[in-house]
Amino acid sequence: MTYDNNNIFAKILRKEIPCKKIYENDYALAFYDINPQAKVHILVIPKGKYISFSDFSKNATKNEIEGFFKAVGKVAGDQNLDEEGYRILANHGTNAGQEVPHFHIHIFGKQPLGPMISKT
Ligand code: 5GP
Repeated sequence: MTYDNNNIFAKILRKEIPCKKIYENDYALAFYDINPQAKVHILVIPKGKYISFSDFSKNATKNEIEGFFKAVGKVAGDQNLDEEGYRILANHGTNAGQEVPHFHIHIFGKQPLGPMISKT
């Protein structure tokens, strides 16, 4: 599978479509999910072209990995989620229902988040 330059997050990175930006560093961009599944629902994406977590973990540089995960932690902290707790989640591929083929981490918070995996 090759990276699709026309995926929605690639367009957000190129500023072709808007997003509600929260934070960015050299390696990552964080913004609000357009269809929130929790009171706080944030997406953090790497600036590099990685399809999924699998691709990112195999092919990103150490600086990209560090810069990306530092951004995830900083955003959660800045949103005051550290004390009350939050969930991070990455969908990879079909079984996980990944919709956008650009690696992203979801941050959910500001409410109890229920079981880790739905029973249905
Ligand atoms: P996935 O299912 O791939 O893990 O999650 C994709 C997420 O991207 C979904 O939660 C969806 O609401 C969000 N999303 C899709 N299109 C857009 C968009 O144009 N802007 C923003 N901010 N989020 C989007």
